[in-house]
Amino acid sequence: MNHHRKKEGTDSMAGKMDQWDLDYLYTGFEDERLAQDMTRLKEDGTALRTLLDDGTLPEAEKLERLIAGSEALNAKTDRLSNFISCTLATDATNTAANKADDQLMALYTMLIPVFSGISRFVSTMQDLEGAIAGSELLKKCAFSLREMKEKAEHLIPDAIEPWILEMQLSGGNAFSQLRDKLDSTVSVDYRDEKIPLSGVRGKAYDPDPRVRRDAYDAEMAAYSKIDLPMSYCLNSIKREAITLAKAKGYATVLDMTLASSRMDRETLDALWTAVREFLPDFRRYLKAKAKMLGHEGGLPFWDLFAPVGTASKTYTIGEARETLIRELGKFTPKMAAFIDNAFEQRWIDLYPRDGKTGGAFCSPVHYADRSLVMTNFQGSFSDVSTLAHELGHAWHNRCLAGLPYELIDTPMPLAETASIFNETMLSYQVLKSCGKEERLTLLESGLMEATQTVVDIYSRFLFEQEVIDTRADHAMTVEELKDAMLRAQDASYGDGLQPEARHPYMWACKSHYYSSGYNFYNFPYAFGLLFGKGVFARYLEKGEAFVEDYCRLLRMCGSAKVADVAASVGIDVRNPDFWRSSLEVIRKDIDEFCLLAQ
Ligand SMILES: [Zn+2]
Repeated sequence: MNHHRKKEGTDSMAGKMDQWDLDYLYTGFEDERLAQDMTRLKEDGTALRTLLDDGTLPEAEKLERLIAGSEALNAKTDRLSNFISCTLATDATNTAANKADDQLMALYTMLIPVFSGISRFVSTMQDLEGAIAGSELLKKCAFSLREMKEKAEHLIPDAIEPWILEMQLSGGNAFSQLRDKLDSTVSVDYRDEKIPLSGVRGKAYDPDPRVRRDAYDAEMAAYSKIDLPMSYCLNSIKREAITLAKAKGYATVLDMTLASSRMDRETLDALWTAVREFLPDFRRYLKAKAKMLGHEGGLPFWDLFAPVGTASKTYTIGEARETLIRELGKFTPKMAAFIDNAFEQRWIDLYPRDGKTGGAFCSPVHYADRSLVMTNFQGSFSDVSTLAHELGHAWHNRCLAGLPYELIDTPMPLAETASIFNETMLSYQVLKSCGKEERLTLLESGLMEATQTVVDIYSRFLFEQEVIDTRADHAMTVEELKDAMLRAQDASYGDGLQPEARHPYMWACKSHYYSSGYNFYNFPYAFGLLFGKGVFARYLEKGEAFVEDYCRLLRMCGSAKVADVAASVGIDVRNPDFWRSSLEVIRKDIDEFCLLAQ
């Protein structure tokens, strides 16, 4: 490892070293191979369609050729979509990239019926098991093929599917776009300025308490300008979800969501059972934070995100790299080498710059056994933690290397396992060695996030459940929605929040409720955080012996139902005890925070 020498870089190198390398995909939009792949992708799609229509081939042979063809097609989209979307992520107005993106989108639209055609074909096969037994490729993809067969009863009839897809464009999708427009264009009167909603929401993190309070008041006033159209968006999207669940033959919207998450009710119930038991602990944390900030009783909503303690240490990228290698490397030297290599091979686009989108992500480049990571690093501990998180995703991708594309789709509840594991490992190691004041700050920021992911997410689940139940009967008014939200917050935050200072408009604030293709876009977050922590607790128990189990678990994420993936390392997600053990990790932090806060 030569990162100690390399990390400094020279000024002329700096500009290059901190941006990711996409050259191994294509050298640019004028690269001939890009146009060729685009053409070949279309040809692959057409060939698969012809194959689907072929009535002469024996079914086993036909299936093998369909799957081989779809694997080849996926490798091309992998390369194309990574190059295009990653270019756009750092250069939003790039004309060539935008044009290529439009072309690729049009190709996707053409490919959707091809993929559902394959599922349909599988569901009509006389002897799927015979075909699987007779082919190496199909044996590898057995889980995915059996799942296609199992889900076949929930396919919308062939003849209607295109019409439903089409109507969603002017139904749920359109309402979802309207919601984004309302959210991004409403102007908020904050003090003497007019600012966007995202700007005023950001002030919730401001160190000045008056700024946070004024921002909250301004935010509430702004929602009252858009709440009526927002309520129509929400009512319509949820009505569509109810209709789709019926059309697909699911008893409820929740059942439809659980099926697409490869999860069962028992698991979800076990999760919520444990969460409900620990709500008083989260409330204890909220009240301790309230006391620190000079409030009686619970926190007012506007202080949920208030920073606590003095500003902590800042990191250069060199220090961040060293910290990650040192602390995460304690798990296994392979992790240290992996992270070092990711920096060395420039997998990461590090700093904010003009035209680059906010936030962070990790995108797998499966065919090349690599990942691409984007962050907006500015030197805070939370930025280092974000790097740990995204590199966790990258590690997960590494564990999936060599598997067919059919088996690499990790369902949402499991998708955050490796990222949460890394975050938890980093803060666990850093907390061991830092001073009291910094400890308080770090503990608090971890608890603030955990409270969002457990307590707030629980309130969102309760709210969405109530909206869907009520919507089956009638469209909810703005007042009804506000009441339902306050009830949900009461059931989750309880006396941790001041009763008169809650957030009745959270349903207008969070875009997750308006995702037309995905309902209950909430419980996977709670599942993900607590599963990741629970897996980490296993590691603490078993030490190095757990490393292999962990990698095997990650490799299995796209090849089995959630409960079976967990069971492979001895975790029973249907038993509340597992979730209690994860929440216990958070309770220890709460205990310590309350002690330090005094
Ligand atoms: Zn993530």
